[in-house]
Amino acid sequence: MAVLFTSDLHLAAPRPKSNEQFFALLAGPAREADALYVLGDLFEYWAGDDDLADPFNTGIVAALRACAAVKPIFIMHGNRDFLLGERFAAASGARLISDPTRIDLYGVSTLLLHGDTQCTDDADYQKFRAEVRSPAWIEAFLATPLAERKARIEALRAQSEAEKQRKPLRIMDVNRLAVEALLREHGYPRLIHGHTHRPATHEHRVDGRRCERWVLGDWYGSGSYLRCDASGIISVAL
Ligand code: MN
Repeated sequence: MAVLFTSDLHLAAPRPKSNEQFFALLAGPAREADALYVLGDLFEYWAGDDDLADPFNTGIVAALRACAAVKPIFIMHGNRDFLLGERFAAASGARLISDPTRIDLYGVSTLLLHGDTQCTDDADYQKFRAEVRSPAWIEAFLATPLAERKARIEALRAQSEAEKQRKPLRIMDVNRLAVEALLREHGYPRLIHGHTHRPATHEHRVDGRRCERWVLGDWYGSGSYLRCDASGIISVAL
């Protein structure tokens, strides 16, 4: 058996290929595995659980529910869909997990995270993140009408895309020292994260210990996931 990890699907109605690939993952490999973990940014954005009635979201939730009835699905918040809440969890059958979450993966302690918390060189982003993740901000935002929330999210996304063009690529990657401190804090030796859209395997030496960091790819071109079993991890393209 195996455990599957994916992230950064950014599911949205205008990208039907990703949606079809996700349905195929849920209908096939996820049901043959022990569990599926989605480490953030399942959706391009999530404006609040009152958007469950949207026909596109209804389709995704139904597919999650059918798979979750057979095998556990764990979903972590990403920076795009951190407003996924308990009503979404109840409707989809998926379990929301904290960022970070540590699991025992066939005997190897493995820390799961979305990844944006480790991009510590991007001070502007970290400031923005602290603001929008505060309970007061979330409460006030969710109190505004759904249509207004969607318009604000669209505006923020346009602004963020423009900023990304200006920012050096380096500051949008994770910070090596931050990652190594996290590995130390959580007892080594393996991390799996997404967010940066730079799929790779990195080796870190932390306190003389060999650690590994697996970075998940995004689904903009084509979907992919990591498949982990007792013999190790492989990357699978959909
Ligand atoms: Mn992200």
